[in-house]
Amino acid sequence: MRISWPELWENIMQCQNCSLGSGCIQKVPGQGDVHAPLMLIGEGPGEQEDKQGLAFVGPAGQLLTKMLSAIDLPRDRVYICNVVKCRPPRNRQPSPEEMQACIGHLRAQVALVKPRVILLLGATAVCAVLGNDYRITRCHGQWIERKGYSIIATYHPSALLRDESKKRDAWDDLKKVRQRLCELSLYPDLLEDKKNEHA
Ligand code: SF4
Repeated sequence: MRISWPELWENIMQCQNCSLGSGCIQKVPGQGDVHAPLMLIGEGPGEQEDKQGLAFVGPAGQLLTKMLSAIDLPRDRVYICNVVKCRPPRNRQPSPEEMQACIGHLRAQVALVKPRVILLLGATAVCAVLGNDYRITRCHGQWIERKGYSIIATYHPSALLRDESKKRDAWDDLKKVRQRLCELSLYPDLLEDKKNEHA
């Protein structure tokens, strides 16, 4: 039987499945519209996220808000979370064991939100959701259909802050997301009127 949001919340808050749980200030489960057609999955909480208990609120989060706005989506209309719910020390990449320990929480979130489209942000999310055979440099911008979800990847906003040359590719990826949302008639109140502007 599928667990409820309160049960999932409690599971995450009590979780000590890996060592990240004892090193963070607080858990960062994710936030947004729990019925969103579009779900975004990043890597893990950073310093600001750890302090505030919210996903994508630091500099990378601010860039993410702008990226979403560029395709006419306010961020409170999507669901945003990470592969791991606790901040790794010094913002290092979570280990395969840590990702494996946390993947059940992510799977439960996906099952509860039931998004139609999933946008993976960066290499860690690609690895966790699509598997080790996928590389962000090769698979970004390509649609992958799995279990009824349309999945696409782009670069993590942190990577875009480090390397501006990736922004062009990220913008092209986002336009594909917008196009797919329109094709599926998702967010008609936000996207239909402006369809011609992005054609
Ligand atoms: S990162 Fe995930 S698995 Fe590890 S303690 Fe935190 S919630 Fe649990």
